[in-house]
Formats: sequence, C-alpha cells, structure tokens
Amino acid sequence: MSESRELRPHPPFGHLPAEGGAALEEGGAAAEVDWSRIRGDFPLLAREVHGKPLVYFDSANTGQKPAAVIAAVDDFYRRHNANVSRAVHQLGSEATEAYEGSRAKLARFINVRVDDLVLTSGTTFAINLVAYSWALPRLKAGDAILITRMEHHANIVPWQLVAQRTGARIEVVELLPDGSLDLDMLRAKMTGDVKLLALAHVSNVLGTVNPVADICREARRRGIVTVVDGSQALPHRPVDIAAIGCDFYALTGHKMCAPTGTGALWARREHLEAMPPFIGGGEMIKEVRLDGTVFNDPPRKFEAGTPNISGFVGLGAAVDYLSALGMARIEAREQALLAHLDEEFAKVDGLRVFGHAPGKAAVVSFAIDGVHSHDLATLLDLEGMAVRSGQHCAHPLLEWLGVSATCRASLAFYNTHGEIEAFMAALHKVRKLLA
Ligand code: PMP
Repeated sequence: MSESRELRPHPPFGHLPAEGGAALEEGGAAAEVDWSRIRGDFPLLAREVHGKPLVYFDSANTGQKPAAVIAAVDDFYRRHNANVSRAVHQLGSEATEAYEGSRAKLARFINVRVDDLVLTSGTTFAINLVAYSWALPRLKAGDAILITRMEHHANIVPWQLVAQRTGARIEVVELLPDGSLDLDMLRAKMTGDVKLLALAHVSNVLGTVNPVADICREARRRGIVTVVDGSQALPHRPVDIAAIGCDFYALTGHKMCAPTGTGALWARREHLEAMPPFIGGGEMIKEVRLDGTVFNDPPRKFEAGTPNISGFVGLGAAVDYLSALGMARIEAREQALLAHLDEEFAKVDGLRVFGHAPGKAAVVSFAIDGVHSHDLATLLDLEGMAVRSGQHCAHPLLEWLGVSATCRASLAFYNTHGEIEAFMAALHKVRKLLA
C-alpha cells in the first residue's frame, strides 16, 4: 500500500515532541508524525479478513486499540489486580492508584477538575445519568427539552423517557441541506419553556461538527442547561470542556483507543452537588444505617459498585497514547485522509455522500444508486474492508435523509492513504459485481 501523500520521516513513536512544542512550530501540524508507522501500533490491523489485508473504516462504531493500551490492561491483571478504594493491602493501593490516575489523566486531557468527572460505562450511561438524576426530578408539564435531528439514539431515547414521565415535551432543531445545524431555528427554539438542550458535538452519521461553545454560551444566557454528547469528538480533535462552557459533557472510551465499557460524565459542580444518586450500592456512600444513608461526595456519589477497573487502566494508557501524538495533529491527519476519500468518492458515478458541512469530521456516509447498503458492505467485507451499513442508531436522521440505510466509512488517524486506495479498488470491483 502506498503512502505517497505521507510527509517527511519522523522520530519513532515515544519520542514525539509534546503537542505545540518547538518541532511542531517548525514543521506545522501534520508534519511531526510518521503516520504510516502509527498503523503498526495497532496489532489487530495486521490481520487478514477473508484472506485479504484488513482495512478498518469503522472507527465511529468502535476504535481499534494500540499495543500500549492492550499491554496496560494485561499488566493490570498480571500484576496489580484488586478492587479499588476498599482493601488496605498493597495490591488494593496499586489498583486504586492506577484507576484514580486514569481519572486524573482524562480530566487533564479535557481540561476539567478531576473531582467533577464521574466515570461511567460510556456515553449512554452518562446521558442517562443526567436524564434520571438531573432532568427527571426537575422537569414538569409545560417544560421543553430541545434536541437536534442529528442525535444518536443515546441522546434521544433518555429524553423521551423523561418526557413521558414528567409531561415535558421534546422540540427538535432541524438541519440545513448540507447537514449542518439550522442555527437560526435553534435560536428561535430557545424559548422560555426550554429547560434543557441536548446535542452532539460531532455527528456520527454526517460528521458535522457543531459550534458547541457558541451554542452553549447562548443557551446559558437564556438559562437553558446544556448536555453535549462528545462521543465522536474526543477521539478526533482537541476538546477543552472548560472552553465549551456546557453544563454536562458525556464521553465514551471505546472510540478513543480505550477498552469498551469506559466513559465519563463531566458536570458543573453545582449540578453534581444538587443531583440525587442514580444507582445505589457500595462505594457511593459515606455511612449506611438501616434507617438511612449518607452519600459520598461527587463524583463517587454516582459510582456505585465495582467499576471497570482494568478498562479505566486502559483508558489512562489511551489518553497517554493520544496525548503523545497530539490531538491537533490527529485532527490534521484525519482531515488529510478525509480530503483524499472525498476526492475519490467524487469520481464515482452514482455515489452520494450525506453530509457536507464545512469543517466536517472524517465520517463519510454514502450510498450508491441502485445498490443496497447491506449488499455493498457485505461484499466489501469479503474484500477485507470493514464499513458499517444501516441506520447508525440515528433513525430520525435517516428519515430526514430519505434513505433506509447508508454505508459509512469512518476514518481514524491510524488509517492510511494506501488503505483509501485499496478501498476504492475494492469498491469498484464490488460495484461491477452488483451491476
Ligand atoms: N452518541 C454518539 C454520537 C455515538 O456515536 C455513540 C456510539 N455509537 C453513542 C452516543 C453511544 O455511546 P456508547 O457506545 O458509549 O454508549
């Protein structure tokens, strides 16, 4: 596979300059990493599928894991495994240190206070925590929850459940033809009865990047609480939650090189203090008597039971790995890959791309006239190409697009230009078979 578009040679991974360091200033964002070598950090990408080299273009679904993350999880089970925050023995202290160390790394990575970061199993749990602990006790008939047409089901269904139980109604902000949010409609819909606005930072179908800082500023001025779904943002761009200024930010680990079953909810302290616990049990308490319980301080008030300790150890390693590469460089790399894929797709007759918002992320949903997306994805799989087909947990968005399914090629920094060339060759071959 060629890497003809790759830039000059670089120091090996592990000797990268810190993001924004001197070497970066000399060379510009994408010039500091030998991206073709980065693919080799991901053991799974070396395997074949159906006898063909694997091309993994499904990172919006879940991301692959670098050897450093796999090694951190392995090392935890081989050398440190114990429960957290309970045992006084050495292993217990090591496990707690590793687990809390990951919380601290993640907090630094997104520029928030460590004590305001609740560790969860992923975005779905994080959004449900806001729905059940913040929204359910507060909302009432006459209130409105504002969402957008591009939301993942994880940012729709919890609000519908809240609406059903409180009598609040759901209002929807629609999209412009290029797949960007209709900001005029959004402003018009921020009326006095709107108590909460929930929106994606980056769309998992269209790749649209929403101007969340501007939107949250406007919402705050109007007293509307904001929930940002950062699932598709964190793996692909620098995210500074303090700068976004939202009330809640939900994120997931498995799309950002970390194990499945990891994620977090960041919330403003005043919300964490005011919210009742969602799940009760061990660890989230200070004192339990049979006639009542004193809850722990946030964030532990929301973390009942034994957590996914090894998963979070892996998440800490993932944050280290991504930080060493630098998120601005990752973003630039993915934009270069996206430009290449867009250029190739534009040459294919009858291929339609859904989502053209300026500055979109490297998520490309597409359809080919007369070809069913599942057939396309199935035949591509036989060529070793992993893309997702279907509705991408976004039925209302697919309805708006007027299609029953799309194929989605979602890229990550560990993909290569050579893989895009191989993908295009496979696409042409498959298309001939389906003609
Ligand atoms: N929101 C978006 C935009 C997503 O892409 C996803 C994952 N597909 C989710 C929420 C759900 O996240 P999790 O898998 O962590 O529950």
